[in-house]
Amino acid sequence: MAYKVQIITSLCCGTSNCVEEAPEAFEMDEDRGLALVRSPQASDGDLLRGAEACPMQAIQLTDPTGRRVYP
Ligand code: SF4
Repeated sequence: MAYKVQIITSLCCGTSNCVEEAPEAFEMDEDRGLALVRSPQASDGDLLRGAEACPMQAIQLTDPTGRRVYP
């Protein structure tokens, strides 16, 4: 469905879970110790898997209508 993804950097504490679970979608900014969206066009499944792995719920997904999908 082409989710939109946003990382709330004020919540990110750099655990890398999202990158480990979905390296196609997320990567680490090693200098800042924060996650980045590597590919906004990553599959919905990859985006959701990465978001669900985040202990801080820092990764927010919305559907094309703007409805919150996660968290
Ligand atoms: S899993 Fe969450 S807290 Fe950890 S690096 Fe990714 S976005 Fe940041």
